[in-house]
Parts: sequence; structure tokens; C-alpha cells
Amino acid sequence: MAIERTLSIIKPDAVAKNVIGQIYSRFEGAGLKIVAARMTQLSREQAEGFYAAHKERGFFKDLVDFMVSGPVMIQALEGENAVAAHRDLMGATDPKKAEKGTIRADFADSIDANAVHGSDAVDAAKVEIAYFFPEAK
Ligand code: UDP
Repeated sequence: MAIERTLSIIKPDAVAKNVIGQIYSRFEGAGLKIVAARMTQLSREQAEGFYAAHKERGFFKDLVDFMVSGPVMIQALEGENAVAAHRDLMGATDPKKAEKGTIRADFADSIDANAVHGSDAVDAAKVEIAYFFPEAK
């Protein structure tokens, strides 16, 4: 089993619902360690840069509007197969399709306001962690 790191963002909808602690408990319960964390309000520039891969998608502007609509909690998680383990905890992008007991099934309202972000691959995680935690080793 490989020890990996992944980037997690608790999005404005979930921060507004006051469930940061409940989501952190799920990370800890799955053996994922929080190795860096910061609460922040993203600028448009930061949100656009983070989601640059989605620039041409129809939902890009709405996604950026949503991500800057309130504070977010950003963390780097570390553990065995952290990328996949974290994606399993999150559930499917569309909460209606997310398995029972996943973060999105329990806390998300829609495919746009879907509570959490998680890196989808180890390489992407490295880039995303460096984007928000340039000091992380
Ligand atoms: N998104 C959206 N509408 C869509 C698809 C995606 O608003 O039809 C948003 C949603 O917030 C999602 C993010 O864009 O989490 C990134 O999409 P991706 O397909 O990478 O999903 P994820 O990896 O977050 O599950």
C-alpha cells in the first residue's frame, strides 16, 4: 500500500452548514491524517486557476461563482491510498448518484453545490497541494 497525499476542499455550502468537524471525523475515521489546513475566502483568480482544466466547460463560471461565494476549508490529507480513499469518502460528483453514507450523499444539495473537492489522481494531488500549500514538503 502506498502512502499518498491528496488535496481536499470543504466547499462554501458545507462550511455554511457548519459540518467541517463532521467531515474531518470521516477523514480521521478512514485513517487519513490532516497534514496542512487553512480556512480562506478564495479570490476569483485563485478559483479560476484551480479549476483551469474545466475552463471550456459550460458550468465553469457558475462553479467559480460558487467557490468564491463564501469561505472554504482547504486541507492536505495523507494516508494509505489517500487519493482513492478520499474519493470513496466523498461519493459521486452528483449527490443524487452518491452512495449512502458518503459525504456528498449526506451533506450536498446538488451537482454544483456538492460539499467537497478531492484530487482525482496522485499527480493532480501534487499540483493541487503545491497550489494552496507551496510550503508543504
Ligand atoms: N460541476 C458542476 N456541474 C457539472 C459537473 C461538475 O457544477 O455538470 C462542478 C462540481 O462542483 C464538481 C466540479 O465541477 O465537483 C468539478 O467537476 P469534476 O467532474 O472534476 O467532479 P469531481 O472530481 O469534483 O467529483
